[in-house]
Amino acid sequence: MKYVSTRDRMRTYTAAEAIVKGISDDGGLIVPSSFPVLNEAKFDALLGMDYPERVASILADYLDDFSFEELLGYANKAYSRFDGDPCPVVKVDDGLYMLELWHGPTCAFKDMALTLLPHLMVASKRKLGDDCRTLILVATSGDTGKAALEGFRDVEGTEIIVFYPVDGVSAMQKRQMITQRGKNVHVAGIKGNFDDAQTAVKKVFTDPDAVARLKARGIEMSSANSINWGRLAPQIAYYVSAYCDLVNAGEIEQGERINFVVPTGNFGNILAGYYAYRMGLPVHKLIVASNANNILTDFFSTGSYDVEREFYKTMSPSMDILVSSNLERLLFEVMGRDSVKIREIYAELAETGRFELDLSELDLSVFEAGWASEEETKETIATFFDLDEEGYVLDPHTAVAVSVYNEYSLETDDETPTVIVSTASPYKFACDVYNAIAGAHEKDPDKAVTKLQLFTAAECPSAIAELDSLPVRHTTVIEREDVKKAVFDFVAGE
Ligand SMILES: *Cc1c(COP(=O)(O)O)cnc(C)c1O
Repeated sequence: MKYVSTRDRMRTYTAAEAIVKGISDDGGLIVPSSFPVLNEAKFDALLGMDYPERVASILADYLDDFSFEELLGYANKAYSRFDGDPCPVVKVDDGLYMLELWHGPTCAFKDMALTLLPHLMVASKRKLGDDCRTLILVATSGDTGKAALEGFRDVEGTEIIVFYPVDGVSAMQKRQMITQRGKNVHVAGIKGNFDDAQTAVKKVFTDPDAVARLKARGIEMSSANSINWGRLAPQIAYYVSAYCDLVNAGEIEQGERINFVVPTGNFGNILAGYYAYRMGLPVHKLIVASNANNILTDFFSTGSYDVEREFYKTMSPSMDILVSSNLERLLFEVMGRDSVKIREIYAELAETGRFELDLSELDLSVFEAGWASEEETKETIATFFDLDEEGYVLDPHTAVAVSVYNEYSLETDDETPTVIVSTASPYKFACDVYNAIAGAHEKDPDKAVTKLQLFTAAECPSAIAELDSLPVRHTTVIEREDVKKAVFDFVAGE
């Protein structure tokens, strides 16, 4: 399978190149040139597999420079770091399920891909005969940073720097990052929001001077952000796997369509769902759920994408994003893979902060979109907990999805079986979750963890329980203009 750039269809890459590069030289995103087909035979085989096998089987069709056995080896390594089933489907009501993607080392869905990516990346470099060290640069809105640090920690031949917005992540997320262990890890706060951090990091990637100076030191940059194909591809697997689990459990018939509701920020998670749909997974609706930063809700209802708007800090910080990078990949698909047009609208976006498309010309029929305010999110956490005796505890991101789904189902009476994609452990956001459920005002995250445990009897993951005993190892905070300088300070000894 060949890969192409969204901004130049003639520019092709192999899978290994796509994973090592992260982003195309022309600033476009790297996408598969076609979608492998999930036919009945393939589907039947997947039903009988465990999760690492399903991942390897799906990836083998995309990453054809890798063998199934090789991929299975990496998947087994990656998913052995999870606590039990890597992505259980939990029934919470008739026809309503939670796909829990947070049983990995950092308790958020980013682990689903970031435990696997380092293996794919190191192997890709080997295949390309590339003996440069890889420098992973990450801009994080909270969860990616920690998951990337854990994934790449002490991986031979790699170095990782994570930039997070100092005041834009939860107390728990920040603590997870600044206590990170590992010989090859660096963490810096940026004064600014996530978009500032992402823009600054992207700039270094495409800065010819930075590229050349690093190269002279035997270092190449790559990305672990969800623009990297090696991040996106593994995420396709859990959509297919959830579907298989529902068939195996007798909850749905094979071939029956289902909905997925996805709490969305950078559009990576839901895009993987769209790719699964394009491969033939029977999907009725993919519901894009946003928080108060609802640029995507506006885009899907009007065709206008306008980043010149107020930025809100919410209790679902991993979705506090205005520029949803992976939307470019969707637009490429629904605009007839016309890379000239994509180049035009992204040039317009860079220049004016907006673009507008005629929705009637695009096939977005599988998508629905909605958003939840902070008040609605809080209310949803509380009412969902009170729904039944078990008291299912939602994290704020997942609560956004549930709130949007509730509204959708009221408006449409759609009774299609629905999977809510649950993206984080509630303990990662213990203060907001506890306060919503108990009507309290706890501000100390450690106390909130303890109280939430007592109040709900939901189990606290050990990765979070141990946090308050770990020493702080990373204290650097920089201006957003100084990202490039920080890179060289950290890794090049200048
Ligand atoms: C990253 C993240 C999201 C958003 O996912 P995207 O792929 O950026 O759309 C949602 N919830 C949580 C908990 C996350 O960490």
